[in-house]
Amino acid sequence: MIDKVRVRKELMEYLLELAKSFYPNEFAGFLRERDGVFEEVLIAPAGHFGRTSVFFNTWMLPLEHDIKGTVHSHPNHVCQPSQQDLWFFSKFGGIHIILCYPFTPADVRAFLSSGEPVEIEVVP
Ligand SMILES: [Zn+2]
Repeated sequence: MIDKVRVRKELMEYLLELAKSFYPNEFAGFLRERDGVFEEVLIAPAGHFGRTSVFFNTWMLPLEHDIKGTVHSHPNHVCQPSQQDLWFFSKFGGIHIILCYPFTPADVRAFLSSGEPVEIEVVP
């Protein structure tokens, strides 16, 4: 049972920068984990996300085994997963991070594939 998501500080700062630079569009990516800590993001190709909804199509999921989660931004300040997000989370498993506008460190949420919120620990 996962009760906490560990994210490297540099990655968290980078994700917030990405969210800001893509605004007012969304960005989406996959999170790579090493030793229980998310350390890297693979940004999903442009064209798979739009103004209102992020599309993570199953055919574009990376096959690498260290991809343990996803991240995407919500430019509309809704920090909850959409119905589409929940559907995707349930397919993918793992951990899902949502950054919502205005993308400060307080605007980051993590969810289990069930949609349950989970605490984020930023590690140096
Ligand atoms: Zn979403």
